[in-house]
Amino acid sequence: MIIVLEGPQGAGKGTCAQGLKDELDAQVFESGRELRKIAKNDSGLGRELKGVLDSGGLVSDGHIYFLTKDWLNTVPVGENMILDGCPRKLTQTKDIEKLLAMRGEKIDFVVVLCISDEVAVGRLLDRLICSGEMEQVFNFNSKPPKSEGICDYDGLPLIRRVDETPVTIKARLKNYHQETVPVIEYFKERGIVTEVDANMPIEAVFNEVLKRITYRFGPLENLSSISK
Ligand SMILES: [Zn+2]
Repeated sequence: MIIVLEGPQGAGKGTCAQGLKDELDAQVFESGRELRKIAKNDSGLGRELKGVLDSGGLVSDGHIYFLTKDWLNTVPVGENMILDGCPRKLTQTKDIEKLLAMRGEKIDFVVVLCISDEVAVGRLLDRLICSGEMEQVFNFNSKPPKSEGICDYDGLPLIRRVDETPVTIKARLKNYHQETVPVIEYFKERGIVTEVDANMPIEAVFNEVLKRITYRFGPLENLSSISK
């Protein structure tokens, strides 16, 4: 089963994706994290991507295409997948559908986390992430780390992402409304979209997401990957 999670930054996509990863024994693709991995490399491509990401801009469809293709090559056909915040644009949607079709797969369900811009901005300014590769998220208010500035999971320092400033957050919200909302409309025409109120605390949001998946596909324990 392939589930797409959509919603603006700060809606809780990352937390829901990690929860679904455990519940469905799924592989998670988050293009931003994959891009930041490459942007840390001191290569031509790494520097190019870093410039785009730091300014809150969007990476080209071509880069996303190859990134997605490379990632899919690491996932066996039939494995459950969570596409976290991807596709972001209609053009990327067509690309991903083509890549999946080559594997005899398709997007089964699209969960949209709906949140007001004000709540999204507030949450993003409140958050810190682990500097390690897994980028676990902490919040000053709702989920503070056990010791200040240190990740609970691996002891690495917590950082504020350089692209999470009021200016870049606003740029990305604008992109979301202009580019991603049409993607959601496209999937609505296929009848595979469910919208969840994500202004609630993240635990409540995640429980609602699980409930919607169960309503649609049946008990979670029946949904583990075919290949397992
Ligand atoms: Zn960590």
